[in-house]
Amino acid sequence: MGRNVNSRDQLAEHLKFLTELGIDGLSRDRGWRTSGRESGRESRTVPQASELPASDPASLAVAPAIPSPSSLANDVDLPSIRADLGDCTRCKLHTLGRRQIVFGVGNPHADLMFVGEAPGRDEDAQGIPFVGRAGQLLTKMIEAIGLTRDEVYIANVIKCRPPENRNPEPDEVAACEPFLFRQVEMIHPKVIVALGAFAAQTLLKTQDSISRLRGRIYTYSSAQVIPTFHPAYLLRSPDRKRDAWEDLKKAKSLLDG
Ligand code: SF4
Repeated sequence: MGRNVNSRDQLAEHLKFLTELGIDGLSRDRGWRTSGRESGRESRTVPQASELPASDPASLAVAPAIPSPSSLANDVDLPSIRADLGDCTRCKLHTLGRRQIVFGVGNPHADLMFVGEAPGRDEDAQGIPFVGRAGQLLTKMIEAIGLTRDEVYIANVIKCRPPENRNPEPDEVAACEPFLFRQVEMIHPKVIVALGAFAAQTLLKTQDSISRLRGRIYTYSSAQVIPTFHPAYLLRSPDRKRDAWEDLKKAKSLLDG
């Protein structure tokens, strides 16, 4: 009984999130996830819990399956980059209270890579990117396009937490970005979703704002780049979630295409 209540709670939360994203109903057809609002339909159909298949509650679960830090070392190439990083002292962030370097996590052969800005408090504590509130939202965004965290790769431009979560400074970005670039070259993703201004500006070598950058497709190396809002921004500005959903659908479409 308690488990059923818990599943219902998770389902309700998941449906609320999909509604917030502006998703037009649910289908078990994977192709559905790449279609939708382009049709110009205005009506929104969010099914009731009773309309959804009860046989596969796991597919609707909200709780993320966050890989352990040990999964960072599951590829021969990425560990060599991590080894080069070492106990890095290349910029002043190593003296400003970092607990550990947050390198990256996920599938080293992923077609889809997410790049964020820098670790926050939770990430600094756990050594894994995107595990705090913003990370939980990112996990839901990944699941909304039919993938899991294990299937994608997630990293930040900056590998150490800036004090008080301040913005990274230019010398810190310059010192750390070569390691992100090497990660991208090793992983060789088809699509990179750049989460927020710092990630997009670092990959695209521009100073344009994220609002100006999003909505178009760019290239970095052999990957197509979709800039979108950082999940932390979406938590503060939920009215932009629909824009983020459009960006995610575009990324999924590129992956499938
Ligand atoms: S932020 Fe990057 S360059 Fe700076 S100390 Fe950490 S790992 Fe090294």
